[in-house]
Amino acid sequence: MRDQYDVVVVGGGVVGLATAGLLADASRRLKITVVDASTRPPRETSELDLRVSAIANGSIDILDKLGAWDRIDSERRCAYEHMRVWDSADAPDSASALRFDADDFGLPYLGYIVENSAIQRALLHRLNVLGVNVRYGAGIDSIERREPRIVVSLDDGDTISADLLIGADGMRSRVRDCVGIDVTRIDYQQTAIVTHLRPERDHEATAWQRFLPTGPIALLPLADGRVSTVWSTNEPDAALAADDEALGRLLTEASAAVLGELIVDGPRGSFPLNAHHAKNYVTENVALVGDAAHAVHPLAGQGANLGLQDAAMLAHTLAEAVSGGVHPGERRVLRRYERARKGENATMVHALTALNRLFASNLPFSSELRRTGMQLFNVSGPLRERVVERALGGKPMR
Ligand SMILES: Cc1cc2nc3c(=O)[nH]c(=O)nc-3n(C[C@H](O)[C@H](O)[C@H](O)COP(=O)(O)OP(=O)(O)OC[C@H]3O[C@@H](n4cnc5c(N)ncnc54)[C@H](O)[C@@H]3O)c2cc1C
Repeated sequence: MRDQYDVVVVGGGVVGLATAGLLADASRRLKITVVDASTRPPRETSELDLRVSAIANGSIDILDKLGAWDRIDSERRCAYEHMRVWDSADAPDSASALRFDADDFGLPYLGYIVENSAIQRALLHRLNVLGVNVRYGAGIDSIERREPRIVVSLDDGDTISADLLIGADGMRSRVRDCVGIDVTRIDYQQTAIVTHLRPERDHEATAWQRFLPTGPIALLPLADGRVSTVWSTNEPDAALAADDEALGRLLTEASAAVLGELIVDGPRGSFPLNAHHAKNYVTENVALVGDAAHAVHPLAGQGANLGLQDAAMLAHTLAEAVSGGVHPGERRVLRRYERARKGENATMVHALTALNRLFASNLPFSSELRRTGMQLFNVSGPLRERVVERALGGKPMR
């Protein structure tokens, strides 16, 4: 028998769960379900998740409003108060290095480094309280529009019908493919090597990022004193083949030993890096959020943050429509959400692509140009503030 809902969210990652929670919270009368092809994140685990994200102030506000932020264990999140960004041609304390300190902006911190699965667990708890049913191990097989509803067939043989289907199923979104939404893609020809490291020196609650011609390396502070690294490189072979000891040496060298010797102390992963942007976010009865709609280079830690902003905007738009008695799957309603989010996300896709290219350039004078640009940026009060405000997810400063 077919299950009937008002809204079905496909994808139980951070963005899908947040979308379902915000929508349930804003419009209690909606019957919502989430389906996900993978397994449920473990309830308890002592090891830190490989995947961590820099979560900006604006996103913390969204999770807090939903009652999920305080449910994230303090050992699973680490506030960062400073950020240092520098070119491999210079030193991290040179005049051209970019420095951001929470104090300068009247903030207690710039953001938090948080395990993705810890955010998911906190959101799952809230969904349970809000009465939203989440079903793992259920991928989507096909989607069919039967006016005015949409019918989703799951690969376990079940079907679900709903007024609205929200595709939050990540970069390789099946929802996006099934409804024929096209994307523009950028292949960075870089691979992100990800692991946790034990640094010789204290991380000083600082997010460190060094730009090399082969790609950027970031060291992000964790609550237990370790750092999580994302090393985006177009020469990944040596790192992929290295044992832990050799990888530690490669990472120490790539980070110019800014935190001294780095020892690999955690699981490892690697991700090919691409950006994409969906040509449309919505069609009749369907909306895309998060990585299903857009994916950006991880160098500024913005992907999950943009997705959480999508979630907040879509929930707000739908709640308003439903309270006015309008069908939530109507394209003109969904277009309001698309108009509100697409421009900002496009700017971020292109800005991060340009930044990655600028720092990877070996053209004559490019290093001098970067140095001058970074020095100017450091002393340009209003521009600096605007960039930080955007990176913090629109959180007003002071
Ligand atoms: C190396 C790296 C570092 C990053 N660092 C940061 C950072 O510091 N800060 C930041 O904000 N962002 C960061 N990002 C980006 C961030 O991880 C993503 O933007 C974010 O996880 C996207 O969340 P999502 O919920 O949209 O998609 P996902 O997390 O990909 O979740 C999609 C969900 O959909 C499910 N699914 C897939 N297909 C189906 C199907 N057919 N049927 C049902 N379910 C399905 C999957 O099982 C999954 O649970 C980073 C990314 C990378 C690669």
